[in-house]
Amino acid sequence: MGALAQKQRKQMNLPLRPAGPDTVRALLAWYDAERRHLPWRYGPRRKADPYRVWLSEIMLQQTTVKAVVPYFEKFVARWPTVADLAAASQDEVLQMWAGLGYYSRARNLKACADTVAAKYDGVFPPTEAELRDLPGIGPYTAAAIAAIAYGHKATPVDGNIERVIARLFSVRQPLPKSKPEIKRLAATLTPSKRAGDYAQAMMDLGAQICSPKRPSCLMCPLQQDCAAHAHGIAETLPIKTAKAARPNRYGHAFLVLREDGAVLLRRRPEAGLLGGMLEVPSTDWGDVLPPEKDARRAAPVTTRWWAVPTPVVHVFTHFKLELMVHRALVPVDATLTFWAEQERCVWVKRRDLHAAALPSLMRKVIAHALEETSLEAAE
Ligand code: SF4
Repeated sequence: MGALAQKQRKQMNLPLRPAGPDTVRALLAWYDAERRHLPWRYGPRRKADPYRVWLSEIMLQQTTVKAVVPYFEKFVARWPTVADLAAASQDEVLQMWAGLGYYSRARNLKACADTVAAKYDGVFPPTEAELRDLPGIGPYTAAAIAAIAYGHKATPVDGNIERVIARLFSVRQPLPKSKPEIKRLAATLTPSKRAGDYAQAMMDLGAQICSPKRPSCLMCPLQQDCAAHAHGIAETLPIKTAKAARPNRYGHAFLVLREDGAVLLRRRPEAGLLGGMLEVPSTDWGDVLPPEKDARRAAPVTTRWWAVPTPVVHVFTHFKLELMVHRALVPVDATLTFWAEQERCVWVKRRDLHAAALPSLMRKVIAHALEETSLEAAE
């Protein structure tokens, strides 16, 4: 673009050049020099292992890179291939996943590994359509695997990419309505060669430069191409429709400690929140806290209970939970009151709790009840 045209664009408050192939070239050059070094990546111009791409993308949903890296490394050290993961039990997978949250992802992970091992001989299929048919793989993950592992011209759009595209093209329609348009615009930039690097470069730019609150436009390789920067509105985009307030829920949890140092845990139903994970038995979680007298009818043993004065507070995506915690010490031959649920109950030694498939909420409940921060303490 000539100097005159650039001057005119500047006067009209337009980016110095509209986003297009030059944008992609600038982005890839930046990526070659500044990309993040992550354990699932294979470096520029190299196709990655589909198993590692898939595992990292599933783990990264709703979770930060920093939190995912140690889990990813543990998983690939124990299960180096998808066939190894398929050979593991669901409980082993849930145990390894414990602490990462959103446990339906772990159940889908196992189901997906089983399908890839049985139906595709341990090799992930290469097309987006086939990938989308696998358990737990949606359009984003399918496009990420197709582009990053197989080099196909596919366009994954995660939150980071969504933000960069909304700003590059100055998309003013609020999310989530603007999602299809953002996806369309992102695809217009996807190159035929290096589609995987383009996707990862956009992810990195969003994470490192084009951050949600204070984008570092002065350091950005796409500054000349960016409409939001030219209009001085980068920080205001993307516009998001206000979310409904997160409701509160309340309940009582009952920690039974046996005299031999074992703790009573119950397996949650497979479907639903924290499905298949272990829990400290509790009442249902409702809109109001049931009176203690009523709540004790849901207690697993009839005994003298000691109530911890302060609740455990845990924030889920859709609600905030406050659990009052009760503790009791019982003899080894204590009888459980909920006979119907006996087969879902298990006694776990305190020293083995660290390896149990317990979600973070339940680890908080146990630590709170025992007035300890570490579950690895010996009995
Ligand atoms: S110039 Fe600023 S707003 Fe535009 S892509 Fe770069 S960091 Fe984001």
